[in-house]
Amino acid sequence: MNLADTIRAIPDYPKPGIIFRDITTLLGNARAFRRTVDELVQPWAGGKIDKVAGIEARGFILGGAVAHQLSAGFVPIRKKGKLPHETVSMVYSLEYGVDEIEMHKDAILPGERVLLVDDLIATGGTASAAAKLIRQMGGELEAACFIVDLPALGGADKLRALNVAVRTLIA
Ligand code: IMP
Repeated sequence: MNLADTIRAIPDYPKPGIIFRDITTLLGNARAFRRTVDELVQPWAGGKIDKVAGIEARGFILGGAVAHQLSAGFVPIRKKGKLPHETVSMVYSLEYGVDEIEMHKDAILPGERVLLVDDLIATGGTASAAAKLIRQMGGELEAACFIVDLPALGGADKLRALNVAVRTLIA
């Protein structure tokens, strides 16, 4: 099975000219979902990860499975205003305008080894902001993992420029 074949491309979603990679078909395919999680965790199978941070919303699905597999804790990184306790936040640029993500202030302790997980990296704006938040809290960011990389948009390079190791399964 080729993992890339289990993802579907939706033209003109959410707006004209965008080809949206829909990973729900991968998640719904039992073998593809298991293989994805197995491949994402493989370099850290020795158990040196303390926390897995997942980016809302599909990063929660993957991150939860990855955290379970690594016997690590899970930390949700959410859009602004969704977390109930004290947060730290980071603003980042979008194609038009800005957005903001947040994490609970006590979610990551200094020195904890953290793996960042999301479904897809495009421009890298979201993941870079998440990486900065994790480091701001004193977390040791071991790597950022994604199922899909869209290399033409430069996101993985942007993360590498921040000295973040990047692991992607499909480009
Ligand atoms: P970036 O900040 O430009 O790298 O965008 C990445 C974020 O947007 C991730 O949280 C993705 O889940 C989401 N995203 C952007 N494009 C797609 C897509 O084609 N399929 C699924 N998610 C996407």
